[in-house]
Amino acid sequence: MNAGSELLSVEHVSVSLSGRAVLRDVNFKLAPGELCALIGANGSGKTTLLKTILGLVRPQSGAVRMAGASGRVSGMGYVPQKISFDPNLPLRARDVVSLGFDGGRLGLPLPSRERRARVDQMLNAVGATGFAERRLGELSGGQQQRVLIAHALVRRPRLLLLDEPLASLDVRSVAEIVLLLRRLATEYETSVLLSAHDMNALLPVMDRIVYLANGSAVAGKPEEVVRTEVLSRLYGYHIDVVRVHGRVVVIAAEAPDEIHAAIARDPIHTAEVP
Ligand code: ADP
Repeated sequence: MNAGSELLSVEHVSVSLSGRAVLRDVNFKLAPGELCALIGANGSGKTTLLKTILGLVRPQSGAVRMAGASGRVSGMGYVPQKISFDPNLPLRARDVVSLGFDGGRLGLPLPSRERRARVDQMLNAVGATGFAERRLGELSGGQQQRVLIAHALVRRPRLLLLDEPLASLDVRSVAEIVLLLRRLATEYETSVLLSAHDMNALLPVMDRIVYLANGSAVAGKPEEVVRTEVLSRLYGYHIDVVRVHGRVVVIAAEAPDEIHAAIARDPIHTAEVP
C-alpha cells in the first residue's frame, strides 16, 4: 500500500459506552479494494468499531477519516448482523436490492429504466439472478446474504462494512460468500471490512486483518498478526497460536478465569482448560 493511498483511516479511536471502555486506541488503515477481516471473540468490540466507522457511535478520542469524503456515510454500504425475514413478507430479492438506492440518496431518483438495469447488474454480480423474483424470507441464509450484499453495493460505495455476515451460514455458503466478497472488492475497487469470530475461512483470502481483544487491536497481514507473540502481547497473557489439521486455533492456557470462560464459548478461540 502506498503512503497516502488509504481509503479509510481509523486513528487512535477509543470508545466508552455507559462509562465502560469498549475500544482502546484502535489504529489501522484500509486501501481501496482491500479485503479486511475484523476478528475477535464475542464481546471484543467488533460491532462497536463498525458503528464508530459508520458514524453511529462517537469516539471519546481519535478519529475516523475517509479519503475525499465530505459526507462519510454516503461512501459506505452496510450489511447489519442477523436480520431474519418473515417468509410471508411480500418483498422479492429484486425489491430489496432496489431499496438500496433509497437510503441516503439526495436529489432526483434515478429514472426507473436505469434503476432496473443497475439492479439487474447487481443481482448478476452477486449470483442472485436465479432467485431475483423469489421472496426474501424463502431464501437460504447464503442466498439472503448475497441479496443483502447487493442491497448495500447498489449505490457503489467505496467501502462495504459487514457485521458477522458468515455467522449463520453452512460451511459451503461461508466459502462462497468469502470468495464473492474477494471478487467484488477487486472488480468494484470497493474496500471490504467484515467482522467474524471464526477466522479460518478468512485467513487465506484476506489482504489484512484487524484482530480485536478486549477492545484493543492489532492490524496487519494475516501471517503478521496471527502469531503467538503478537496475540500474546495483545491479550496481555500467553496465547498459543496452533495450526492443526489445516486450521488455526488460539489456545489460552494461562488466561484469567473470566477470559477462559469467554474464549471457551467461542468455537474457534478454543481454550484448553488445564
Ligand atoms: P462484538 O461485536 O465483538 O460481539 P460489541 O461491540 O457488541 O462486541 O460489544 C463490545 C462490548 O461492549 C461488550 O462487552 C458489550 O457488552 C459492550 N457494550 C455494547 N454496547 C454497549 C452499550 N450500549 N453500553 C454498555 N456496554 C455496551
